[in-house]
Amino acid sequence: MGRIRILSDNVANKIAAGEVVERPASVVKELLENSLDAGATDIRIEVENGGRRLIRITDNGCGMLRDDAMLAFERHATSKLSDVNDLLSIATLGFRGEALPSIASVSRLLLETRTAQETTGTTVELAGGKLLRCDESALAAGTVITVRDLFYNVPARRKFLRSEQTELAHIASLVTHYSLAHPAKSFQLVNGVNELLGVTPVEDLRDRVYQVFGASVLEELVNIGYREKEMRLGVSAEDPEPVERVFALRGFVSRPQVQKMNRNSVFLFVNGRLIRDRLLMHALSAAYHNLIPPACYPFALLFLDCDCEEVDVNVHPSKTEVRFRHGSFVHDFLRDSIRELLMASRPVSNLPLPAIAQPAADLPYSEFTQRIENHHANEYAVVPGPESGQDLPVLTLAPPAAPVPRFDFGTESIRLDGNAAPMRLPVPDSHGAFPGESFSDPSQTMHSLMDLRPLGQIHDSFIIAAGRDGLWIIDQHVAHERILFEKVLKQRASGRVEMQQLLMPIVLQVTASQQLQYARIADELNAIGFDTEPFGTRTIAVKGAPASVGAGEIEKLISEILEIAEGEMRSLSMDDLRRGMAASIACRAAIKINTRLDQTKMNWLLTALSATDYPMACPHGRPIALRYAMKDILKGFHRI
Ligand code: ADP
Ligand code: MG
Repeated sequence: MGRIRILSDNVANKIAAGEVVERPASVVKELLENSLDAGATDIRIEVENGGRRLIRITDNGCGMLRDDAMLAFERHATSKLSDVNDLLSIATLGFRGEALPSIASVSRLLLETRTAQETTGTTVELAGGKLLRCDESALAAGTVITVRDLFYNVPARRKFLRSEQTELAHIASLVTHYSLAHPAKSFQLVNGVNELLGVTPVEDLRDRVYQVFGASVLEELVNIGYREKEMRLGVSAEDPEPVERVFALRGFVSRPQVQKMNRNSVFLFVNGRLIRDRLLMHALSAAYHNLIPPACYPFALLFLDCDCEEVDVNVHPSKTEVRFRHGSFVHDFLRDSIRELLMASRPVSNLPLPAIAQPAADLPYSEFTQRIENHHANEYAVVPGPESGQDLPVLTLAPPAAPVPRFDFGTESIRLDGNAAPMRLPVPDSHGAFPGESFSDPSQTMHSLMDLRPLGQIHDSFIIAAGRDGLWIIDQHVAHERILFEKVLKQRASGRVEMQQLLMPIVLQVTASQQLQYARIADELNAIGFDTEPFGTRTIAVKGAPASVGAGEIEKLISEILEIAEGEMRSLSMDDLRRGMAASIACRAAIKINTRLDQTKMNWLLTALSATDYPMACPHGRPIALRYAMKDILKGFHRI
């Protein structure tokens, strides 16, 4: 007898379930997406024990007809696609018809549903994928799906579940994100008897961001508004008509002062679907290139919308990855939109200094997840496991009465209290009225640099200046670095670099590897203001250098550039390399700290800085200016 056997449906379903249902949050994701696809405007999610004991989703969507309710548990049963061509333009979140059978095969599932057209509803009950009953019952319109004892019949999977807090954090993060994608809908997430999230319908994304994150986070963000770009597709044999495709971008990105050590604060939605995507991630990093340090990430909440034909969502089992038909167009659209926005709004860093970004584990969804998990790890390392049936610790915000942000970038505001019972984050209403336009106060931008009056220096290193909107402190070295960086790049672009010829050529010894790098970058090096040539084995002769660089710095500068070429920049483009060179030249040539400046020089520096494209950060991503806002000065003196 041969060895190959066809797996029974039951086993096959369990294997497929492994792809779709990884953890309780994946169940919530699939059910939530189904509710959204069903047009629900009010979605309530209840969980117990991090979703292992119970997950229940109640929606007011279209519901299912009796026959459909049974059919929904057949593999590949879906109402969302009918033929293979539909796969090319998927507008719904679901489309494979796999979620319900997969979830049902690893849990005890109860479906209660009624459409508006039918007078009675349907109840379907399954356990481990087996149908137990299907009855007619009196139900409200909409759908309730209750999933109990997840993985009760797959012990191997159950073992891999993380702590209750972790699973709960994943769920909370997921629901939060979907609530951001749908400001006009109500979402409620309840753990046991405690509400973790409760948001009512609001007008737009900004209001929802405020509900979810609070006022102080909103202040750190710049609203992208709505930007779009058209792409014209050429005429082809299949498409005789020229086609126009529109890509639109909405959302929020952080000011450069917000620096995160990982991607957890980047939320990408493509056509309303929460995804992880390298291409878009790269575009975002490119937008912040030279604005924040290379290993840091911004906060970003981005909604990209495009024609369904432009994006393939059928790439990954859990539908968290996509593939774009015109990837580089999308990439450049995103990068340029965000870069232009940052350039135009010139957000300034306020005092006190931004908190240093904290290293954190790479979690799939957000720092909210991180926050809950960190607390758990730090404070509750010894509490008995989730099976003990203990209540969760309290999470409250201090002070509870004041309108405080739900999630906070800088200071720690969530406090754990081990004795009291329920876990609680404040409900959004505690934020009070929406503060209108205050966060986009135009005086919060670097435009006000232009009318600053320099008063003097501290430690011969930082310029103190008075402005209409407060007191400013400018780091003279990085400010000058920014000015020179842009100057070098502009001169390079126009082919008119200022060069100084050296009286005596400098002869540099290099390693074999540096010699190879030199051969690769020599043309660029000479185009950006050096005059160099190979001079025998492993030596380079330098006969000229950019005018602004002091003779004593030239040798160090060239080794630094060779190091860049050799190290991290090896895989980078010529453009990146050029920016790297310009940053090195600027750094070597810029006024040092501990240098006394007279009034004329300070004036010149501030004027030149205000004329740069990006006066908010040096080419290595450090902030250039800090402002002590008038508002805070008045507050400090108890005048407001
Ligand atoms: P898919 O979402 O890929 O179509 P699912 O297995 O998630 O597959 O769901 C199967 C079908 O069940 C859906 O196509 C839809 O018709 C129906 N369905 C699931 N959940 C709901 C719901 N909350 N409200 C109405 N219909 C639903
Ligand atoms: Mg689905």
